[in-house]
Parts: sequence; structure tokens; C-alpha cells
Amino acid sequence: MKYTTRRLSASLQHGLTEMTQSALPADPWLLTPGPLSTARATREAMLHDWGSWDAEFRTLTAGVRGALLAIAHGEASHVCVPVQGSGSFAVEATLGTLIPRSAKTLVLANGAYGKRIAEQLSVMGRACEVLDTGDYLPPEPAEVERRLRADPELGWVCVVHCETSSGILNPLAAIAEVVARCGRELIVDAMSSFAALPLDLRELPAAALIASANKCIEGVPGFGFALIRRERLAASAGQAHSLCLDLHAQWRYFERSGQWRYTPPTHVVAAAARALELYAQEGGQTGRLARYTRNAERLVAGMQALGFRPLLAPRWRSPIIVSFLVPGSARFDFERFYLAIKARGYVIYPGKLTSVDSFRIGVIGQLFDAQIDGVLAAVRSALDELDIADGAPDPAVVAAQPAF
Ligand SMILES: *Cc1c(COP(=O)(O)O)cnc(C)c1O
Repeated sequence: MKYTTRRLSASLQHGLTEMTQSALPADPWLLTPGPLSTARATREAMLHDWGSWDAEFRTLTAGVRGALLAIAHGEASHVCVPVQGSGSFAVEATLGTLIPRSAKTLVLANGAYGKRIAEQLSVMGRACEVLDTGDYLPPEPAEVERRLRADPELGWVCVVHCETSSGILNPLAAIAEVVARCGRELIVDAMSSFAALPLDLRELPAAALIASANKCIEGVPGFGFALIRRERLAASAGQAHSLCLDLHAQWRYFERSGQWRYTPPTHVVAAAARALELYAQEGGQTGRLARYTRNAERLVAGMQALGFRPLLAPRWRSPIIVSFLVPGSARFDFERFYLAIKARGYVIYPGKLTSVDSFRIGVIGQLFDAQIDGVLAAVRSALDELDIADGAPDPAVVAAQPAF
């Protein structure tokens, strides 16, 4: 929508509230890896302004930090350090703060987010070796162990829990066990799994877990956070490559003043506080996982009924986002397919794979049976619009898939 001068002055006269309620069209449902469709109550929590130094806002921040830590049962061992920016800012801040400048890191990559970690380390001048298993094959714990034994200089390992580029759920527990047994430190990008899949820092030997406000806690984008083992963080003073992305300094400032270092995303924190209340009402991690699992199963069954084929075997699929192979029909065109689905009120996501054409449908956010049924109906009509009988992929593409 374009704001003309007339429209703006009219909205000023009538007040923002009326404008947002009456003049804006309904938002499409986001079936994406985030930002997600959020609860109205979460968005409404942002209809206030806070002074960042104010006691009320400090209480809000303390509540959010405490609730995030409790989700992964890290109260006794870890601390929660939020940082302004998107999830990648939190990843970069964690890597730069914890990993010593002279250390070498093994990065397990099977998609865009693992590759991004390697890129971040290289930009900040930290040595790294990448164990790249391609687009969507899982890293093998035995291979991780072999690499660590072969190179005693590899002091750190980074892994992505749910690699959102394909939706694969990597074998985190087995990898963490190997890393701990070899006496190395583990950093987990748990961005798209945190709060939905079980993560228990009393058992998982991780130096840090990283996530953000706009994934499975169902807040709005604006900050990321890391749950970091207290002694590790305490030992990392002065290590960061960056002033703003120094989580040791950020933590000290929270501890000392209860405030964020530099301007906090006040509205985003308020939305996160409300989203975390809704999370508790839904039954916390188990409640949320139950809904996402139900969404994923309903989606996959419905897509299979339309002839589509998920990229991954069931054991690797996550209840977060599901990749499907594109239909084999020569008339398939992702852009037209996407727009036809969007015209019916649903936003899906392009694939991120290099070897096969695929697309992704997310099941996280405020999505329930009605939205899953809705997107399935939209997919059916989009196929009709493109004059494609069903979603069956090219048999040659299917035959070329590795069995794993
Ligand atoms: C969303 C996501 C990120 C962070 O992406 P941003 O766009 O920076 O928020 C990192 N890792 C994974 C696995 C993700 O799903």
C-alpha cells in the first residue's frame, strides 16, 4: 500500500489504531522458516513505548532472559545473553565471543546455515575446517570423531540442529556425545528448533545454544540470544572481534545494570514476553511440539495425496519445515505456483538446494489444522491453474536420490 499525503493525514486524524484495524487487508499466512505468523496478542503487546532504562522494561528483559534459559533447563549451568539483530547476529556474536582467536573450529555443514557459520568464522579470521555433507545428508558422528582425533588443534565444533534449508534434523545428541568424549567444545545453532524440540542443557554438553525471537517462541524479529555455559563466558573477556557483538561485555552489562548495552529493541522484547506467556499456556515445549508435529503430519499426508514427494526420508524430517521435490510436469514454474498460492492467502518458500529443484512449506508459527488444510487447498488450485495433474516429481530425479 502506498501512503499518499492525503492518506497519511487522514490516518493521523483518525488515529493509528483505527487505521490498522480497518484499512489494512488481512495478512497472508506465513508457512516459512521465519518471520512467522504471530498471535494477535503478541503483536498487540507492541502498542506501547518504553524507556530502555526504565524499571518496567528491565523487569521485562529479566523475565524474557529467565524464561528462555528455563526452556532449555540451563538455569544451573548457563546464562542467557540476548543481542540486537537477527539470528545470524547472535550466531556471529557467539562465535566471536567464545572461540579464541588462535583456535581452530570444525564446522558441520549440510545447508545454507552451516555454510554461513564457516563464512562468519572466515570473515572474523578464525581458522576452520568444514565437514560438508552436501545439501541434505546428515553429518556422521563417526566421521566427526575421526576428524577430531586426526587434528588435535580442532578445539571447537559447530553444528546446526535443524538445518532449515532442507528441514533436516541433524543427529545432535550423538554428535554432542562424540565432541564431549573427544574433549572439545560444542556450539549449536538451534535457531529453528529451540523451544519446539527438546533441548536439555542438564544433559546436552554444549558450550552454547543459539536461537532468535522470531522462530519457535513465535515472537517478532529483532533480537537473537545465546544460552552460554557460565564459566566459558566468564573466561572469554576481550576475545570478541567486535565491540557490538561482544557477548561477554553484553552479559556483564546485563548483570550490572539489568539493561541492554546500546538501544534495545523494546517493542520486540515486549512481544517476546507476551509470546512466552502464550507458549507456557500452550504447554511449553511439549505442547508446541505436539502442534507442530500434527501440522507436519497433516501437511505431508495432504501433499502426498496430491502426488508430491518429500525430499527427506521420515527419520530425518523435522516438524519445523518440510522440503518437497517440484512436480515433474514441464509446465511447472515456481514463481507462478508461488503467486497462485499467495493469491489464496498463503506464503510458502523456495527451496535452497543446489542439486535438485524443491520448495519448502513451514509448519511453525500460529498455524493450526485450518491453515494446513487451507494451504493444501491452495496448492491444489495452484496446480489446476498451472494445468498440472498432480505433484508427482520426475521419476529420474527420484531415482537419483541417495537412500539414507
Ligand atoms: C533462521 C535461521 C538462522 C538465522 O537467520 P536470520 O535470517 O539471521 O534470522 C540461523 N540458522 C538457522 C538454522 C535458521 O533457521
